[in-house]
Amino acid sequence: MSEADTEYQVAVVGGGPAGLTTALYTTRLGHDTVLIDRGGGRAAMMQETHNVIGITEEVSGNELIQTAKRQIESYGADTVRGLVSDIHGSSGSYRLDVGEETYTADRVVLATGFSDDRPEPPLPRTGRGLHYCLHCDAYMFIDESVYVMGTNESSAHVAMIMLNFTDEVDLLLRGEEPEWSEETDRQLRAHPVDVIEAEITGMNTDQDGWLNSFEFEDGTTREYKGGFPMFGAEYHAELARCST
Ligand SMILES: Cc1cc2nc3c(=O)[nH]c(=O)nc-3n(C[C@H](O)[C@H](O)[C@H](O)COP(=O)(O)OP(=O)(O)OC[C@H]3O[C@@H](n4cnc5c(N)ncnc54)[C@H](O)[C@@H]3O)c2cc1C
Repeated sequence: MSEADTEYQVAVVGGGPAGLTTALYTTRLGHDTVLIDRGGGRAAMMQETHNVIGITEEVSGNELIQTAKRQIESYGADTVRGLVSDIHGSSGSYRLDVGEETYTADRVVLATGFSDDRPEPPLPRTGRGLHYCLHCDAYMFIDESVYVMGTNESSAHVAMIMLNFTDEVDLLLRGEEPEWSEETDRQLRAHPVDVIEAEITGMNTDQDGWLNSFEFEDGTTREYKGGFPMFGAEYHAELARCST
């Protein structure tokens, strides 16, 4: 690849929906654009796509990404598979390190997303009883038995929110102490959420891999269709600290 091939007006780092949309706009606004993505982000984890207008449910995240990638390439954007390990320079003149290659760009857009923190196993498969996106997946659990996992403020609030979809909501502490505030505790006690303190020791799934039930260290077994772990997220913001 010649040096001229790696000089762009805009470099977009991250090829999930945010980065792909950015590259679509910059390219169609006439800016020479490269999109650099290492793959495997949150969108790639979508087995089915819920709640995106114009996209039917059976479209997977990977299919959505591949279609969008072909779309931006058809407008003239370049796409590169790789990890941007560092960015040097300042506005108007950036250098991006991608393996052995260096790309230059006048402007850089970071669309690097975040990763959900996963609780310890045993856990069902993502999308088969383990869900991270409330607005995408809560609709799947109308009148079903649901768990929320965690000890923080978010877990308590999500448990109460889930009562809009079903009467059967358990909040699983997994042997840890709750960390939510007294006010949240008061609200939680006023709602019909069962707080289960015991750690999970086992799990049962059906032949399609969907969660059936969790077994607990106090010897009980509780049935669930699915649920939401609330353990926080890690934002991929390291590249925002640009080296000179
Ligand atoms: C299991 C699951 C199911 C979901 N289902 C739905 C759904 O049905 N409907 C819905 O609307 N939303 C859903 N979501 C949420 C949706 O996936 C996110 O809102 C969306 O993917 C966010 O897009 P993004 O572009 O910000 O981040 P991401 O999709 O995470 O994309 C970021 C990209 O940047 C890349 N990247 C990060 N750092 C670097 C680097 N240094 N160099 C190169 N590349 C880098 C990552 O590898 C990744 O490819 C779901 C999320 C999960 C986890």
